[in-house]
Amino acid sequence: MIYLDNNATTRMSDQVLEEMLPFLREDYGNASSIQHKLGRRAHQAVEQARERVAQALRVDTKEIFFTSGATEAINTVLKGVYQRYQAKGRHIITSPAEHKAVLTVCEQLRGEGAEVTYLSVNAQGLIDTDELKRSIREDTVLVCLMAANNETGVLAPLGDIAAICRQKDVLFFCDATQYIGKLDIDLSQEPIDMLCLSAHKFHGPKGIGALYVRRKSKPTQIASLIQGGKQEHGFRGGTYAVAPIVGLGAALKDIEQNDAEYVRELRDQFEQLVMQEIAETKVHGSEAPRLYNTSNILFKHVRGAELMTKLPDVAISSGSACVSGDRDPSHVLKAIGISDEDALCSLRFSFSKYNTREEVVEVVAKLKAAVEKLRAESPVWKMYKAGLLDEL
Ligand code: PLP
Repeated sequence: MIYLDNNATTRMSDQVLEEMLPFLREDYGNASSIQHKLGRRAHQAVEQARERVAQALRVDTKEIFFTSGATEAINTVLKGVYQRYQAKGRHIITSPAEHKAVLTVCEQLRGEGAEVTYLSVNAQGLIDTDELKRSIREDTVLVCLMAANNETGVLAPLGDIAAICRQKDVLFFCDATQYIGKLDIDLSQEPIDMLCLSAHKFHGPKGIGALYVRRKSKPTQIASLIQGGKQEHGFRGGTYAVAPIVGLGAALKDIEQNDAEYVRELRDQFEQLVMQEIAETKVHGSEAPRLYNTSNILFKHVRGAELMTKLPDVAISSGSACVSGDRDPSHVLKAIGISDEDALCSLRFSFSKYNTREEVVEVVAKLKAAVEKLRAESPVWKMYKAGLLDEL
């Protein structure tokens, strides 16, 4: 299997697994049971992982909370801020190209009385910062925008967004799930109030993530989503998932050795070969700054779902993992103005350090053969080539 679905999830690194194993075998204590040695060991491991997260983001350990992943963090922030800041207002600003976790919770809050503004995005998927400025009102309680888009890899103008929110005194929550692990961020410099990350996107285990909440300067109030024991100072109850937490810390530590340049070369080589070898293809978002591992490509009049069935031993995606079971066109591609037909004919390829140049060459050859075969059999393609499709 050639795995090019690294924005959905990544292979866990051996180093990460090695660091986790003792906490699945002999060191199985509860991190809250610090009366005995096993519990203390688990507690220390959790706190060491917290240190690593805090160091990676350049923040205080007291500002880091472990969650089950980005979805939980997103639920916590959107619902928790909405609940706590009702005296200020009920207006939330986001964009239609966000992850479904954000969009679904925003719609739920709308049903509970929130007013949600969806900023427009241009053909590259970028928001207009002037529109953001104009959209912020007296009653705006939260701006929620992602750092990097999971489907196109397009990078948001984070610094500008954060500065605008700070200047207008509105909280900014950044979904950095695709960003952390690939690019660096210094939260001691960027006025981002809340940020989430998820370990399985950067060779860590699934089901664990972290939420940063600014506490040191300009403290942020969020109502707790999961109540129970006193874990995380009562902010997030539930027994610590010690091994996954250790895995998260280990995965972050591993990133220092991550070869971003290598992955970028692979991705660029892939795009060049596709453009060169396969007619009528287009890379979405290519004119904007993008994550170096992501490539979202339109194969004109070749349905992505069909193309995938012709490449059974290549893992690719026809949208985000959460929706790729859907037959509907990607909401992200639709948001950037791509027609339903073109969105259905687009596939996402996402690379990691475990991919090789040989794999890139092999996948492009397989794609070329499959695309040519499907087009040769397609009446729509023939009509298109004969100039009989008015859409074009
Ligand atoms: N936000 C973005 C941008 C994502 O790509 C994902 C995962 O696909 C999520 C949120 C949800 O992450 P998790 O799987 O940790 O819940």
